[in-house]
Amino acid sequence: MVTYDYIILGAGAAGLMLASRMANDSFFDDKSILIIDKSKNKGNDRTWCFWEENEGEWDEVVTKTWSNIYFGSAQFSKTIPIAPYKYKMIRSEAFYNSLWESINAKSNFTFIEDTINSFSELKNEVQIITSKGRYLGLKLFNSLPNAEVYKSQDKYPLIHQHFVGWFVKVQEDVFDDSKATFMDFSVEQNDNTCFMYVLPVTRRTALFEYTLFSKDLLQHSEYEDAIKLYLENKNISDYTIVEVEKGNIPMTSFKFKNINSQHVLNIGTAGGWTKASTGYTFKNTSKKTKEVVAFLKTKNDLSKFHKKSKFWFYDLIFLDVLANHNGEGAAMFASMFKKANIKTVFRFLDEESTIIEDLKIILSVPPKRFIQAFIKRLF
Ligand SMILES: Cc1cc2nc3c(=O)[nH]c(=O)nc-3n(C[C@H](O)[C@H](O)[C@H](O)COP(=O)(O)OP(=O)(O)OC[C@H]3O[C@@H](n4cnc5c(N)ncnc54)[C@H](O)[C@@H]3O)c2cc1C
Repeated sequence: MVTYDYIILGAGAAGLMLASRMANDSFFDDKSILIIDKSKNKGNDRTWCFWEENEGEWDEVVTKTWSNIYFGSAQFSKTIPIAPYKYKMIRSEAFYNSLWESINAKSNFTFIEDTINSFSELKNEVQIITSKGRYLGLKLFNSLPNAEVYKSQDKYPLIHQHFVGWFVKVQEDVFDDSKATFMDFSVEQNDNTCFMYVLPVTRRTALFEYTLFSKDLLQHSEYEDAIKLYLENKNISDYTIVEVEKGNIPMTSFKFKNINSQHVLNIGTAGGWTKASTGYTFKNTSKKTKEVVAFLKTKNDLSKFHKKSKFWFYDLIFLDVLANHNGEGAAMFASMFKKANIKTVFRFLDEESTIIEDLKIILSVPPKRFIQAFIKRLF
């Protein structure tokens, strides 16, 4: 049986970014790399958005960019210019196709379409059991969902970013496609943190996503009713739903580093690369896959990949507050967007801010709940 140098489980955002970075780096030319996923052609199964300054690595597959974002709530509403940042949207099909092109060009990559049942560490290698066979690798990168690891503990808070989105098409120019609605808290809060997220791609097509940051998921019809009502309130009645997307992204400060080992590194959402306080994962995955490639050139023990960061603790406190006082989310976000500069907010969420910038964000939110959560965590 062949023992691959590297096996990548899952050809989604993280698996494919890692594979394509390896394919584009001659260091890996003499390494055998196996990718396994239950389906290769997933089409437009998701829409990724992220902010970044000016031009970026994925611009060739970007569908739309916005230079303004709208924040709406009872306490504060504003259209905010975000230059030099841009808010960018990628439809997944273009992204998958582009990455597969670079991977397919390399003969040292093998792809197997198969369902993975389990993997386990042997003495010096990792064994993967699929529905059709067994594979061995020296190093494993796993991006398969592993919700059981963070659901089976209660030391760290867990809420979900859950949503249903409708791409709707109208017959006249009604959408303002010069701005993306980042968070519109004008929807009924029902003691939760919920908002509408709106991405107008053209003046006639837009994605309306009803989103919650909360512990419990809703019935599918409840998300759809909220979108219908929102459209109605905007006087949009004559529309066609052209696509539907849904998601449930974990927001947790669970220490994912504890599930890595010498031979196994969990990547993507499965590796805790989702920003715990926002659910954003794409850009972090882009950064982290670069770091993994650099790491592999000099080091061997994958359990040493993780680096400590002050942002883990900030996210923990934020999630403690959001989990325990879910109905106060709208007021917290409104206060932050009102008082803090948007560039500072982005740098903070990108985990690139200085201590002074951190303080500006910390001072922008109502202090009571955060001080309570901080003291509770300290003791
Ligand atoms: C609808 C949606 C929209 C999102 N939008 C954004 C956004 O705007 N911005 C952002 O930053 N993040 C967003 N996210 C979060 C995150 O970026 C994505 O979930 C991203 O795809 C995570 O990448 P991943 O590689 O960890 O997981 P995935 O992309 O989900 O990849 C996992 C892969 O594993 C495969 N797989 C799973 N189980 C098995 C099995 N048993 N056997 C074989 N293969 C298996 C799947 O087929 C899949 O290809 C969104 C998520 C969703 C669901």
